[in-house]
Amino acid sequence: MSLYKELIEISHKVYQKGFVAAYDGNLSARIDDYRILITPSGKCKGELEEKDLLEIDYKGNLLRGEGKVSTEAKIHLVAYNKRKDIGSVIHCHPVYATALASIGEGLMRPVFPEVILSLGKVPLCKYGTPSTDELPNSMLPYIEYAWAMLFENHGAIAFGKNIKGAYFRIEKLEHAAHTIAAARMMGREKSLPMNKVRELYSISEEVYGIKIDKRNRFDY
Ligand SMILES: [Zn+2]
Repeated sequence: MSLYKELIEISHKVYQKGFVAAYDGNLSARIDDYRILITPSGKCKGELEEKDLLEIDYKGNLLRGEGKVSTEAKIHLVAYNKRKDIGSVIHCHPVYATALASIGEGLMRPVFPEVILSLGKVPLCKYGTPSTDELPNSMLPYIEYAWAMLFENHGAIAFGKNIKGAYFRIEKLEHAAHTIAAARMMGREKSLPMNKVRELYSISEEVYGIKIDKRNRFDY
């Protein structure tokens, strides 16, 4: 499948899942060392077509396409420029993840085994005014290791080696935030004990060969 087609399919999915409303959110994928494919400003993600997508360089200059480059392209660029292992970025406003961000919380406790392995820590980036450098700058303390982050009073961002990988992280993040909200209606979620968290890391390394950056580990 072409990168164009895949980015459109996932954009539609992000809208159908209710992870964005109206014109919100933006998605991108690395094409090569010179170009990034990104959704344009001011268009609904549920209605996008391949011809709407833009190609930009690593400074955010428009190379190809008719639309306007989003002011939020900066948060994509900081990810691609800082991390060679990131091939796709999705920024959106999923309800439960954004609700956590609005009460000043990230997902910084080890609660669910699969979330510990696939997302690791999901830090909360300090509030920054959209379109200014405050927002990309707020990612800098965590960008070297995190695979997902929350933006205080704003939304969420996830990274993947490819588009599907970034999408699944956003989906998992929203599912975890939703489950935590449900748990809090019944009491309060419990963290896993650290010996169980360590056991999980050792199994993931031995069985699946997954090596997690130590800064993204809960026992570090
Ligand atoms: Zn946003």
